[in-house]
Amino acid sequence: IGAIESARQPVGERRVEEGGSAVPDPEWVRPRSVWLITAPDRSEQADALMQQLRYFGFKPVDVHWDEPLPEAEAPLAVLFIPGVTPTIDQQLEQIAVVRAAVPASQLFYIGVERAMEPVVAVMRAGIDVTVSSDDQSSMVLTRILDLVQTHEQEKYRVLVVEDSRVAAALIKRTLSEHNIDSMNVSDPSALIETVATYRPDLVLMDMYMPRFNGVEATRVLRQVAGQQAMPIVYLSSESDIGMQVEALRLGGDQFLTKPFNPVLLAAVVRTKIERYREAMRSTRTDGLTGLLNHTASKARLKQMVELMPSHGNLCVAMLDIDHFKSINDTFGHPVGDQVIRGLAWLLKGRLRASDLIGRYGGEEFILALPDATPERATAVIERIRRDFAALPHAHMEGTLYSTFSAGVACTLHYSTPSELTEAADNALLEAKRKGRNRVINACG
Ligand code: GH3
Ligand code: MG
Ligand code: MG
Ligand code: MG
Repeated sequence: IGAIESARQPVGERRVEEGGSAVPDPEWVRPRSVWLITAPDRSEQADALMQQLRYFGFKPVDVHWDEPLPEAEAPLAVLFIPGVTPTIDQQLEQIAVVRAAVPASQLFYIGVERAMEPVVAVMRAGIDVTVSSDDQSSMVLTRILDLVQTHEQEKYRVLVVEDSRVAAALIKRTLSEHNIDSMNVSDPSALIETVATYRPDLVLMDMYMPRFNGVEATRVLRQVAGQQAMPIVYLSSESDIGMQVEALRLGGDQFLTKPFNPVLLAAVVRTKIERYREAMRSTRTDGLTGLLNHTASKARLKQMVELMPSHGNLCVAMLDIDHFKSINDTFGHPVGDQVIRGLAWLLKGRLRASDLIGRYGGEEFILALPDATPERATAVIERIRRDFAALPHAHMEGTLYSTFSAGVACTLHYSTPSELTEAADNALLEAKRKGRNRVINACG
């Protein structure tokens, strides 16, 4: 363990530390830079990859293998594309240099031989992800786009249910030292409300409090829809094993005793949240695109409307790919799938972490953009429309181009989620009627 630790700090940890909370970017289209460290005989492959990266809103930076590293800010990812030169030793040396220079970036090694020894060798040098020579280049793109999503994930949130101020302050400080956000509820009566607004990833539950005890509060939480799987960890001075077992039986996930060990507390909280978020992700996302599925999109939209500040504005857009049936009929279903994925990638690459992007149906997408005027939102979608129309999709005989139509509506004119989606849908129908490949703003 010691050897592995000293060679490499776990990616998950680095990422969370860097992640921070999702701050909306005023620039909307933020170029996330990606360095390509390319061997001389691989420049063709690198050029093709750079072109694709540009399409998806990244800023690729070409670095030759023996050149010094760019002095710009750390990139999202670094891609190593080795060729006949440099030698493996030179490669490992360079990887280690980059690893030390940009500890928070994700390092990819493209074209590794799928065998134990070479993979371990590059990982020891500091590579996070290896892509084998027979994987397609679309695989590299998928991994980088997934990275954008995980990289910009929100900070972990813990709700501390604890009546003692001193204990609550100590717990909150411990969590904050581990870059975990927390909030204290000193009276369980406010629990249900607070869970709905704060959306914690985990609850730390005291056992003895006035009026209700921790077990009762846990049982109540488990009745609330959507909270059956949230981790609830007891943190109590109760040392009776029988009581602890009973508390677990009635809905808790783990029992930690006070006084607590801060390192253990942070580790338990982190690992439980990681697994919980991972499990939530697979039930909430769509397998083809990784976007939120229909049900999860609707739930998220409802939440975004409810939590919107009274002076704020939220724009909802519905997108539908034009004449998609004919793409399927002409080129086959797998090519159709690739077009759907292409649009999903473009949306992921171009929108902010705070925006909702969902796959609403087969080739239909829903977006919700907070803090945007209808004009601004329409302009952003219009730009994505233009770029999507220029995006080549590969098929057996060459490339094809596709377009989408979109309708936009916002909370200045429509208030409930269903009114918003209906208005956006009507605007979308109008866009289709008017000839497709256009964006219509219902609030313009
Ligand atoms: P329009 O411009 O009016 O939207 O025309 P369209 O052909 O896109 O019309 P429609 O929405 O009726 O067709 C959608 C088609 O998308 C029908 C369905 O076979 C196909 N489809 C739905 N889901 C998937 C999917 O996951 N993969 C693929 N390849 N095709 C899908
Ligand atoms: Mg207490
Ligand atoms: Mg459709
Ligand atoms: Mg369609």
